[in-house]
Amino acid sequence: MEYKIALIPGDGIGPEIVGEAKKILDRVCEKYGHKFNYEEVLLGGASIDACGVPLTQEAIDTAKSSDAVLMGSIGGDAKTSPWYKLEPSKRPEAGLLAIRKALNLFANLRPAYLYEELKGACPLKEEVIGDGFDMIIVRELTGGLYFGERKTVEENGVRKAVDTLTYDEKEIRRIAVKAFEIAGKRRKKVTSVDKANVLDSSRLWRKVVEEVAADYPDITLEHMLVDNCAMQLVHNPGQFDVILTENMFGDILSDEASMVTGSIGMLSSASLNETKFGLYEPSHGSAPDIAGKGIANPIATILSAAMMLRFSLDLDKEADAVEAAVQQVLKEGYRTVDIMSEGMKEVGTKEMGDLIAERI
Ligand code: NAD
Repeated sequence: MEYKIALIPGDGIGPEIVGEAKKILDRVCEKYGHKFNYEEVLLGGASIDACGVPLTQEAIDTAKSSDAVLMGSIGGDAKTSPWYKLEPSKRPEAGLLAIRKALNLFANLRPAYLYEELKGACPLKEEVIGDGFDMIIVRELTGGLYFGERKTVEENGVRKAVDTLTYDEKEIRRIAVKAFEIAGKRRKKVTSVDKANVLDSSRLWRKVVEEVAADYPDITLEHMLVDNCAMQLVHNPGQFDVILTENMFGDILSDEASMVTGSIGMLSSASLNETKFGLYEPSHGSAPDIAGKGIANPIATILSAAMMLRFSLDLDKEADAVEAAVQQVLKEGYRTVDIMSEGMKEVGTKEMGDLIAERI
């Protein structure tokens, strides 16, 4: 098969880790007989330096005309980088928000997977970890409290602030469909998280999710209140497969789920629109403190590329092969410095990419 992939190296360690992810994709092409045509797109600080703005229309057009976008990360050191002397709407992060909006990416996917080999980095006790965990949080990204009407007023000398949490059934349905589709490719369980004992928006959320569930009889649906979910993530994380939730709850829960894996350099993510199109990126930032040193962990970006193969290109077998190669390299004891532990073999960014590519 032939696909067009937009590559956004970005800033800091971005070019280094995207380079390794491309190495993996090239190996996938070689092994499985596909052809990926890459086009590089400037975003964030790299775009400010070259074009004066963090995102150009040309970049949006290139991304839109691709089958998927693979990104490193953007941004610099806020204290020292000249990008942060610009007004907020012209800084690197504004480019990222703008491209997400332009591409209508309403579904954010954040897997939290505990590798047996990295159990030592997990802050939970052995008995809580049990056989490990493998979940994915599907978060609504363009609605809810963060996008509702807001105002701050003064009434009778008292300051008052109002934020509104609104969801319509279409917004709920499209994200629920994504979650059920993803669960169909996994262990076939959706936990829908809400606050239906208090919020009207959550009661509608629950009703619409149940309507969508009727179209997926082979998938188990359970509902969980968000406060309970926050506890369950550190009490019994192994119970979760797909967690489906609205924007703010997902913001908080996905960070909590990431932290229990303990390894920032390993966490991938994806943002999808209504079609198969998506933007794939590691959960971490551009790590300016280690940029150019050749020591960044490329695995989060490589796993993001695996998600791209699975969700945008429907190449499940190839995605499995990339994930298995990552697991194999960890099993053999290779580690970048961020996940290094006693008795393991320390390798740099390029070497880690080579080792994974060789095992595909
Ligand atoms: P960060 O994730 O870049 O770094 C936090 C710490 O983790 C640093 O010590 C860093 O060295 C380490 N780290 C991160 N990724 C690593 C990797 N792959 N391998 C080894 N170590 C790694 O977060 P930060 O320092 O708060 O932010 C730095 C810049 O990144 C800022 O400009 C911020 O705005 C930007 N940022 C961008 C994105 C994005 O592009 N989506 C996300 C978060 C932060």
